[in-house]
Amino acid sequence: MNAHDNKAKDFLPQLTGSFAQPAAENPTVAMVEAAYKHHGLHFRYINCEVSPENLETAIQGAKALGWSGFNCSIPHKVAVIKYLDGLGESAKLIGAVNTIVKRDDKWIGENTDGKGFVQALKQIIDPAQKHITLFGAGGAARAVAVELALAGAKTITLVNRSSERAEEVVTLLNDNTPTQAVYNSWENRYAIDPKTQIVINATSVGLYPDVDQQLNIDFDSIHPDMVVADGIHNPPETHLLKTAKDKGCKTVNGIQMLVNQGVIGIKYWTGVDVDAQVMHTKLNEVFDL
Ligand code: NDP
Repeated sequence: MNAHDNKAKDFLPQLTGSFAQPAAENPTVAMVEAAYKHHGLHFRYINCEVSPENLETAIQGAKALGWSGFNCSIPHKVAVIKYLDGLGESAKLIGAVNTIVKRDDKWIGENTDGKGFVQALKQIIDPAQKHITLFGAGGAARAVAVELALAGAKTITLVNRSSERAEEVVTLLNDNTPTQAVYNSWENRYAIDPKTQIVINATSVGLYPDVDQQLNIDFDSIHPDMVVADGIHNPPETHLLKTAKDKGCKTVNGIQMLVNQGVIGIKYWTGVDVDAQVMHTKLNEVFDL
């Protein structure tokens, strides 16, 4: 009999959690525990502040305590890899991990940053065979670009201020996936190519507290038939999304991306498909939305 079958008499929950620094502003614990409770899963999620010097010991601790897995965030997404036994397909391409799963006593690194985004996007539009313009080339943009390519995107135009990281992502996509990727420089006000079907902001422009900061783009180049998505979850309605909505575009916000990441992580750890709405409601509650 496993932990779920005899919950009333089982005082030993399965443990999951997060290792990051800083950790206090991360709302994941609230939404994951809401889902565990709603589905009667005998699991807990513990949000831990872990410094880079303590990462190895923290992972040994999680192993010794029999954890089922954990998330890791800034600044551990790359450093964690050397302590793992293997990587999932997209984590390998992205070169960063945010979810660790115990499979047959092996610790495997996955990356749900982009998977959560693509799952949220698919509720509105399937990226397969689509033309996509993606702003940004940091960790989030790289994860999103790899998952869009693995989901069959036809073209990805990567627009970023600095060229080095962007060229690296473009080469990664062209060498490893069927997607055709190109880099466009971003020195002046950027006009989005009218053949674009999906526009994505994966930069940190507009992130709290700089909520009035705007992307340097020609907003007249956004057309109503484009789907517009923003990775920023605080605030959930960014200047870009407000502008796109006013033009009649369908939009996807960063909260939907975050919730879907949670759904995928919980599936990895528990095997259960949890109700995304429960997590969404909890986030709305904690952010007073
Ligand atoms: P990084 O620091 O790795 O990358 C930041 C990106 O933003 C780079 O492409 C950088 O360009 C660009 N950028 C920063 N300032 C400007 C500016 N003034 N003008 C133009 N471009 C700018 O951050 P991450 O990739 O990890 O995170 C990016 C965003 O994604 C954050 O807002 C984060 O909150 C969000 N995110 C959301 C998740 C979710 O679940 N919703 C998950 C993970 C991240 P350059 O290379 O030129 O410096």
